[in-house]
Amino acid sequence: MEIIEHITNIFSKTFRDKPAHIARAPGRVNLLGEHVDYNDGFVLPAAIDRATYIAFSPTDSDQTTLIAADLNQQAFFSPQTIPSKIQTDSSPLPDWAHYPAGVMWALLENELSTPAMKAVYSSNVPRGSGLSSSASVEMAFTIAWQTLGRWTLPAMQRALLGQKAENQYVGVNSGIMDQFASACGVENNLLLLDCRSLEWKTIPLPDDVAIVIADTTVRRKLTSGEYNKRRAACEEAVRLLQKDLPDIKSLRDVSVEEFNRFARKLPDEVSKRARHVVQEIERTNQAEALLEAGNVERFGELMNECHVSLRDLYEVSCPELDTMVRIAQSLEGCYGARLTGAGFGGCTVNLVAREKADGFAGLLANNYESETRLHPEIYITRASKGAELLA
Ligand code: ADP
Ligand code: MG
Repeated sequence: MEIIEHITNIFSKTFRDKPAHIARAPGRVNLLGEHVDYNDGFVLPAAIDRATYIAFSPTDSDQTTLIAADLNQQAFFSPQTIPSKIQTDSSPLPDWAHYPAGVMWALLENELSTPAMKAVYSSNVPRGSGLSSSASVEMAFTIAWQTLGRWTLPAMQRALLGQKAENQYVGVNSGIMDQFASACGVENNLLLLDCRSLEWKTIPLPDDVAIVIADTTVRRKLTSGEYNKRRAACEEAVRLLQKDLPDIKSLRDVSVEEFNRFARKLPDEVSKRARHVVQEIERTNQAEALLEAGNVERFGELMNECHVSLRDLYEVSCPELDTMVRIAQSLEGCYGARLTGAGFGGCTVNLVAREKADGFAGLLANNYESETRLHPEIYITRASKGAELLA
């Protein structure tokens, strides 16, 4: 594979040695269950066939040396410099290095050994487009330190440590879905995760459908502020609904029927946000049986309903996402299309008949470009294996 050759070459040139190991961890896409992870709901992601790869070897010094090949940058840190987010020469740790350093920090917090390494890494998960390049970096480094530290943790435990790194070291308030999918991915399967109990199961994706991801190329900066506002609205809804439904702990505990009964007691905006969550959790409840029965048509309709709900109730779409979804839904072979990830730009996910996927991708790109004058990236992808050490 090209990317492995690329990092191996840089490794050999820089360190005058071959790397001892290669670790790989994929990005992810979520098919259903959007903005419900922090409401204890269900999500239905898949690991994709794009990943971060690390070429690495142990080293005798206690300094870890990293080369981010895609950024053409280096960073140096050790367990001593990690807490103050500095490098071994006392300069500040660059932002991109907070992800691997955060993994070391989280592992050390959990008394797992993190021997120093020299490493080169590169990824074909696009950065910042909602396919979770950050979790793929974290999960690849977790595998690298697991290898050098000679400990073994179940994939879900590794995911939780990656989430801890991202929440507490990088400082991004994200749910467990991204690291979970990157760590636990199974080829040709969707993963149905209960975000409350962390129980999960695989659901086979029929062979004759393809997952097509379309990147609008639009990135909006306000994302984290808006994200926090949505979370606050959900918490407010729970607090208000508890007056009538004292046993609920989160919106997960509210049925559609109960919500309809009490929704009028909520302020308008809070009610819209909560309605999306309650109905979206109901959609994910239907998904398993539909997919098991091979009813891809109805599952695709749930994806379309999800988009309308994210656009009109949760209000996290944008004109470019709406355009991409509208075009996709008009094309032959498309079962369902919706924005995926936090929203305000980034990607859409499409479920498409596999034999039509190439034609679909071409038309989607052309029509989107002629309407928006933006040049989109389209990835025809498949559900892939989670993070691993390559032989
Ligand atoms: P995403 O939706 O892709 O996860 P994030 O903003 O959460 O977007 O994470 C993107 C950040 O992760 C980048 O800004 C960078 O710091 C880090 N990152 C992702 N991919 C790479 C890479 N290939 N090399 C170095 N850092 C990376
Ligand atoms: Mg991320």
